[in-house]
Parts: sequence; structure tokens; C-alpha cells
Amino acid sequence: MQELSLGIVGAGIMGKMVGLLALKRGHRVSYFDNNPMLFDGTQDKTIPCSLVAAGMLSPFCELEKADLIISRLGEESLPLWEEISRDLSRSFYFQKKGGIVVSHPEDKNEVFNLKRKLKQHNLEYVYEEIPKTKLDSFEPDLSFNFKEALYFPNEGHVDPLSFHKAFVEKIIPQCTSSHFETEVLNIKPYKIETTKGHHSFDYVIDCRGLETKKDLDSLRGVRGEVIKVQAQGIKISRPVRLMHPRYQIYVVPRPMNSYLIGATTIESEDFSPVSVRSALELLSAFYSLNSSFSEARILEMNVQCRPAFTNNNPKIIFNKEGGLIRVNGLYRHGYLTSPKLAEILLNKMNDTSGNNSSFSECCFWEDL
Ligand SMILES: Cc1cc2nc3c(=O)[nH]c(=O)nc-3n(C[C@H](O)[C@H](O)[C@H](O)COP(=O)(O)OP(=O)(O)OC[C@H]3O[C@@H](n4cnc5c(N)ncnc54)[C@H](O)[C@@H]3O)c2cc1C
Repeated sequence: MQELSLGIVGAGIMGKMVGLLALKRGHRVSYFDNNPMLFDGTQDKTIPCSLVAAGMLSPFCELEKADLIISRLGEESLPLWEEISRDLSRSFYFQKKGGIVVSHPEDKNEVFNLKRKLKQHNLEYVYEEIPKTKLDSFEPDLSFNFKEALYFPNEGHVDPLSFHKAFVEKIIPQCTSSHFETEVLNIKPYKIETTKGHHSFDYVIDCRGLETKKDLDSLRGVRGEVIKVQAQGIKISRPVRLMHPRYQIYVVPRPMNSYLIGATTIESEDFSPVSVRSALELLSAFYSLNSSFSEARILEMNVQCRPAFTNNNPKIIFNKEGGLIRVNGLYRHGYLTSPKLAEILLNKMNDTSGNNSSFSECCFWEDL
């Protein structure tokens, strides 16, 4: 295989995945990102989308709203995540214990709708209906308020911040060069122009997320809000989705008894702080899982806008003449789908014909 030099613009989850898998194939990787290398939330800068994310890897639960392609990409990404977690340090928090879906009795229809969607795709085998006794052995702190649940054994979750730290520790030293706190001004086939100079590569990979809007006008931002809490004396070890007709929340376990509560998908490119309404909805739904959560402490509230195309599915766009690839529109599914997207991108990097492609629905060849 030919060893290529890759200039990756954007070290969010997509850029990180491309670089990580490219290094494994023997390519030379250089990074460019306008954020600091070790972004840990203490800097006076907006927390990037990849670090605000909940980190759920839910190929099946997401089918409630997403297309089948997301589920397929997610399903094929899970074994790649397992491999990545073996390669990275043990401090990377990756769990594959499955996910739980519950509803209060009056909202049972929402669970029924999810089951109906899965049936439409012949995916009834991906979940198990578990009674209170089994829920009690899985997640005892949930069984007090819920008599039954759906259990999805082949789902997982990661802690984005621990992935970011492990990446900086293990992967960045393997790169040819890394240019953090460096704004990229211009991207062209084979060329990157930054505030500090010009660079040439065999391929430029554009992973700038929503910032690529200047070059891809069909991209839009979809606001999401999350609240991080810490709770003592109560434990949930799998991501839990509470189905509700208006606000469906998820609670994702994080290291050190902390949890990320999220849900909102608001059609607006609004980066202003979390609204009172969203905070009330997220926290009251969280409290309804188990009233002992009332004593949890709020650690952070964050907002970001997810990069999305009109159909909410990702695109890998290859320049017809080579030298530039853009990958974007990861929407709610950056962690879920990026390993497989990176693999597809690298497999097709030198194939400008577009023939014989699996996942062809997310690959496009254009004049960039
Ligand atoms: C509230 C919320 C919850 C989410 N939960 C989940 C979840 O549970 N599971 C899941 O799979 N996904 C989730 N997501 C979605 C996920 O976060 C996104 O899909 C993902 O972050 C998109 O990744 P990206 O790498 O394409 O873009 P980004 O994460 O936006 O990364 C782009 C990078 O490019 C850099 N950049 C941009 N412009 C320039 C420039 N000119 N010069 C240099 N650098 C530049 C930025 O600094 C940034 O580091 C969630 C998102 C939100 C907002």
C-alpha cells in the first residue's frame, strides 16, 4: 500500500478517527486545529462539539429518529471502537454493557413506536424486553420506578474527554507534525494555508465540522444542550433513555459517579447558554428516574451545535481530481459513526472511480 502524507484540518472526533486509522495503515499524518491540544474545559474558549457530546454508541436506539444507514455505520463502528480502546491507554473510558430504554406507564406508546421502527427494519432481535426482576439485577436503582425496560446488549458508550486525553498522549506523538492553536484560513486540493504559513500534502482531509459551512452551504447547526451531574449513593451503569412524547432524555454514565443528561435537538444555530426550560425538562426527567438523584450536584451545563446536512446523514466528499476530501454532517452520531466513516474514507482515498463501493450512499465525488 502506498504511504501518503495527510494534512487533517480539525481534530474533533472525525479528524481524530481519520488520523488514528491512517497511522495504523502507515500513512504520515499532520494535524491542524484552532483549539489547544489539551483542551480540558478550563480554557476560556467554547468547548468544541466533540467534547460536549454524550458519547453514546447506540446504533439501534437511534433508529427511532435516524435512517438505517446510521445504524449500519454504528454497528460496524463498534468493533473498531473495541480495537481502539485496546490500543489506547486504560484511562480511556469505553464501555460495552448495552443500553436501557424505559418509559413511565402513561408514555408506553413511545416505546411501542421504537419497537415498531425496529420491526420495520427486521431488527427485533437487537433488544430484549426485561421484566422488573431482571432490571433489578441489571440496574437496581432504576427498578424502583420502572416495572419493565428494553435492553439493547450491543450498544456502548465512551467518555469523550478521556478519549481526547488518551489520543493526545498516545496518537499525537506518532504524527509527523501537529499544529494546535492554529487557524486554517484556506483549504485547497493538496494545500493548507494557516495564519502561520503554507503546507502541502498528498491529501488534505477537511474535518472542520460546522466551520466548513463556508465551503458547504448545505450544512446547518442543530443545537444540543447537556447537563453534567455527580451523584453519590446511587448508581446507573448503562446509558438510559427515558421515552417521552415531548422530551426524550438520555442519561449517560461517566467516570467518578458522574452522569451526562441530554436530549435536546433544537433547529437553531444558537450557541447561547442552556435555557431555563431545557434545564427544567432535563433535570425533572432525570429526577423521575429515581428521586435520590435530587441530591446530585450540577457540575456543568453545555451547549453546542451539531453539524448536519438536510437529511441528517453524513457525507464523505472526494474531490474528483484528488488531493482533498471533506467529511462532515455527523449530526448526533459523531462517536457512533466516525470509526466506520474513517475506514470508508481511507479505503476509497485512491479510488476516484466510485465503483463497487459499499456504503456508497454516503460517498460523493465532486469538483471541490
Ligand atoms: C449535546 C450533544 C450531544 C451529543 N451526543 C452524541 C452522542 O451521544 N453520540 C454521538 O455519536 N454523537 C453525539 N453528538 C454529536 C457529535 O458531537 C458530533 O457529531 C461531532 O462532534 C462532530 O464531529 P466533527 O469532528 O465532525 O466536528 P467538531 O467536533 O466540530 O470538530 C471540528 C474541529 O475542527 C476545528 N476547526 C474548525 N474550523 C477550523 C479552522 N478554520 N482552523 C483550524 N481548526 C478548525 C475545531 O476547533 C474542532 O476541533 C452530540 C453532540 C451534541 C452537541
